[in-house]
Amino acid sequence: MSSNEIRNIYCIGRNYKLHALELGNEVPDQPLVFTKPSHAIVPMAGNTVDLPGNVGEVHFELEIVLRIGRAYEPGIDPEQCIDGMALGLDLTLRDVQSKLKAKGQPWLAAKGFKNSAPLGEWLPYPGAAALAEKEFVLLRNGEEAQRGNASDMLFSVSELIQFVGEHYGLGAGDLLFTGTPAGVAALHDGDQLQALWAGTAVGSCSVKLV
Ligand code: ZN
Repeated sequence: MSSNEIRNIYCIGRNYKLHALELGNEVPDQPLVFTKPSHAIVPMAGNTVDLPGNVGEVHFELEIVLRIGRAYEPGIDPEQCIDGMALGLDLTLRDVQSKLKAKGQPWLAAKGFKNSAPLGEWLPYPGAAALAEKEFVLLRNGEEAQRGNASDMLFSVSELIQFVGEHYGLGAGDLLFTGTPAGVAALHDGDQLQALWAGTAVGSCSVKLV
């Protein structure tokens, strides 16, 4: 799927308890939703990704990304809306985000910059039960940086789709980043990133801070 077929990009914040706590945030009682422009998408297919190098830390957040193939409507089984999954990075300008939070300003500058959403290859969506049997891992320069499992989500895939669909609308071509597990940290120029799904590489890139 090319980026011009991608429509809305929804992201969920603080959907893993240990990640919410590592940033000193409260665990939310309903999904925390934000968006990225579709221009944030960049492939994670062995390429180099240019990222801002002069506005403080750029943090990686590896996440399960769901692709919506069918519009959400009330009463539908939410999982019926999903037609694919990938691993992706919700890259975050953490210092910028801290300033925005302190001022009560929107997160766009911290979350929506160009190339802020590298996406690995598309895989079939296996269903919630099978999803929870597998782990996703981010390797940085060959060392494990993050490890997650969908069973640790505070809000399940179905709950997220229902919530986003009811409040904002979900249709074919929309993506949903489902939140990151603990372990986020700052990228360095030249970092080599690899995303693993159940031990298999499904995306890789190198980082260039410019
Ligand atoms: Zn995230």
